[in-house]
Amino acid sequence: MSLFGRIRNRIARSAGRALSHIVDRIILPSPSTHPMNLTSIKRAAQHLKGQPRVLVCVGSGLSAESGVPTFRGPGGMFYEAKIARLTHVDTFESDQRREMMGWYQERRDLLDTIKPNPGHHALIGLCQTGNYTIATQNVDHLLEAASDEADFRPEILHLHGSLLEVRCHDCGRSFEDLTLDLETLPTCEHCGGPLRPGVVWFGESLPHAALQTSAEASQQADVCLILGTSGLVHPAAALPETARQFGATLIEVNPNPTALSDISDIIIRGKTGEVLPVLLKEVERLNKIKE
Ligand SMILES: [Zn+2]
Repeated sequence: MSLFGRIRNRIARSAGRALSHIVDRIILPSPSTHPMNLTSIKRAAQHLKGQPRVLVCVGSGLSAESGVPTFRGPGGMFYEAKIARLTHVDTFESDQRREMMGWYQERRDLLDTIKPNPGHHALIGLCQTGNYTIATQNVDHLLEAASDEADFRPEILHLHGSLLEVRCHDCGRSFEDLTLDLETLPTCEHCGGPLRPGVVWFGESLPHAALQTSAEASQQADVCLILGTSGLVHPAAALPETARQFGATLIEVNPNPTALSDISDIIIRGKTGEVLPVLLKEVERLNKIKE
């Protein structure tokens, strides 16, 4: 069975048909509807050559190509009442905590099975050509994994937290641990509070430090690169708007029009896993000419 099939079945077993249907739509190969626009890629590369300051705004599209299920995207799903319930802080504080933690533990288990795709690797390659800050809405570790392979770690800000992390809901102490089974409702050894995944839920604020640093980066950026995000989730979606107000050139890479397309200067229609490797090669080529 293919990797896609294994992941899909694993999710189907644990989360029911609805979620497997989402994954089907996102990770199964489908014919590309957008021939890659080389002219746009070359224009984008002109802005990324040299040593520009770049803010990269990353959404679920980048990781979807690795098989990470998303709940928005082509097909439009901010899906069911069930998903909305399982991603809200009120549910954790209710008698449905075990069901919610079981669902999150399945997502944490999935992290073992996924790998960075060519989009992650090419983005880390781009980061080595300039002064890059990455603000990601993704809660997986795929950019870090790609960084480790390249032995180069750019600044990566997780606006919505991390699934790898476990945090005490009461005292806030946190640590990275994928082996701890959250469905068993473990408690904090310091204060006895309930442990939870280190992600941001609906009804909660974004991590202040990551938000502050990315806001500063948006004001200093020469270029804002928008990758695989619908531009609908605020406040993350405000970063490109701020960058634009402060004079940055906006480059969008997405297979479909988004809420940010209208304010983008350069639009590259295509999957990040297909576009970014080509973009990286072009930037490297231009930088070599410059030398
Ligand atoms: Zn605690």
